[in-house]
Amino acid sequence: MSSPIPAFFNEIQLAFKPLYEWAFGERIDHPETTTRAENILNALHAEPAVFDVRAPTEIPLSALRAQHSYAMMTLYNTARGLPPDQTLYPSVFPKVKRGEGDPTNLHQAGAWCFDAGTPLNSQTLTAAEWSAACAQDAAAALRHEKQKLTYALSRPPGHHATRDLFGGYCYFNNAAVAARYLRRFGRVAVLDIDFHHGNGTQSLFYRDPKVLTVSLHGDPRDFFPFFAGYAHEIGVGPGSGYNLNMPLPEGTDGPAYMAALEAHALPAIRHFGAEALVLSAGLDGYHKDPVGHWQLTTEDFNVIGERIGRLGLPTVAVQEGGYYAADLGLNAVSLLRGLAAGLAGSR
Ligand SMILES: [Zn+2]
Repeated sequence: MSSPIPAFFNEIQLAFKPLYEWAFGERIDHPETTTRAENILNALHAEPAVFDVRAPTEIPLSALRAQHSYAMMTLYNTARGLPPDQTLYPSVFPKVKRGEGDPTNLHQAGAWCFDAGTPLNSQTLTAAEWSAACAQDAAAALRHEKQKLTYALSRPPGHHATRDLFGGYCYFNNAAVAARYLRRFGRVAVLDIDFHHGNGTQSLFYRDPKVLTVSLHGDPRDFFPFFAGYAHEIGVGPGSGYNLNMPLPEGTDGPAYMAALEAHALPAIRHFGAEALVLSAGLDGYHKDPVGHWQLTTEDFNVIGERIGRLGLPTVAVQEGGYYAADLGLNAVSLLRGLAAGLAGSR
């Protein structure tokens, strides 16, 4: 390994603590804990020769406004005024035109939200802004420092957030922030390996022929986000043909996953002629994950990273899901080491 991999994180992202969510009528501890990010951070710090952990700079408002509606951001700002011990779970979802509502009235928060497991409190906006800042700076480091691989320890995650809807524990679409930054310089591929379909990322680039979105995920007939992620969703207008969804069955293991990756996902990215890659690095396909339902191992993440690295593209890996916190650091490092090895071998 040559120079250490720049990895971006700000401790302030830990200030936001979702408490619980509902699963089939049962109140369960919220999977998107601060321990997730802390464990990854510890794993990065444990290898100072491999990872260069840095705090990001503040993200320009324009970078968020480029893809999220003013009303949704106003709503987050309204939630900032909640008492510190209060958390809002949107539970009324209006059947009106999208975005119709008053974002200064938290009772109407459901107008910008698509599920009941993604709460708002006084710390949400700050944590989400800095999570997006990690992605923005990780993308910028590819350009400014001619890095081949950077990592954004984005938490809360982002790939479910659309232009004007939050959900799936996501508020700002961090991977899309990175892709939007990089697309100014050429064609960008976003490869989403999270167990769940990246519906937000798909929707943000659905009409865009300059950003290819590829997602391998649990079949949406059975798994969140249920209403997107089907193979027939290929993009529209000028973006038609630039969205590839690969639903994989429950229980998919390393060899089956690798076969799908090699047969369709990676060739599509090569054929597209991508000049940069944004990897939505969800780790909830892990066999012990309480939310995902695949059988991937720590070693599989290394091989997956290595295969993706062989594309030889400047790559920003953006953290998405992964809820077996105890092994999250191990798995993140395994994936990143694989990416670095693949990139080194591709030269
Ligand atoms: Zn996920």
